[in-house]
Amino acid sequence: MAVLPIRIYGDPVLRQRAREVDKVTKVHRRLVADMIDTMRSAPGVGLAGTQVGVLERIFVFEVEEEAGALINPVIVRRSPEQVTEEEGCLSLPGIAYDVQRSSAVWVEGLDERGRAVSIEAGGLMARVVQHEIDHLDGVLFVDHLPDDARRDALRELSAISLGLPSSAPRAAGFEEIL
Ligand code: ZN
Repeated sequence: MAVLPIRIYGDPVLRQRAREVDKVTKVHRRLVADMIDTMRSAPGVGLAGTQVGVLERIFVFEVEEEAGALINPVIVRRSPEQVTEEEGCLSLPGIAYDVQRSSAVWVEGLDERGRAVSIEAGGLMARVVQHEIDHLDGVLFVDHLPDDARRDALRELSAISLGLPSSAPRAAGFEEIL
């Protein structure tokens, strides 16, 4: 097992769409183990293949002490209710913003053994599922922000990448880093 380098904002791989996994093999099981190590060492609660430069539709999660992987995940149903919570991302280090998402989602996919799984996700898990599937589609959480907040976020990101101090509100103590 190994901790993999996490791709950071500006890396073009983060804007690409990951492809479906045809057949789940031991290569994927090793990747999942490495991704879980990487997520834990970050630390974070979710990590998509895209974030470690692997353009296959795989993400890992660890929510309420339950860790796992979903391969070829598809959201088959969403709650009509939306919820706004502060969100961060391992690929956009140093910023966190309020993001509105469905409060619950029903997701289907495969686990790392290739078995079909179906998850009813609420709370933090619902947020993780939506955030990670976005990554697999080349979408970042800042894309969901209203224009003014997105401008602030991008300004903050470039200041951080240049090592400059920034006046934008820096998140402190947020825990939802995906
Ligand atoms: Zn992320």
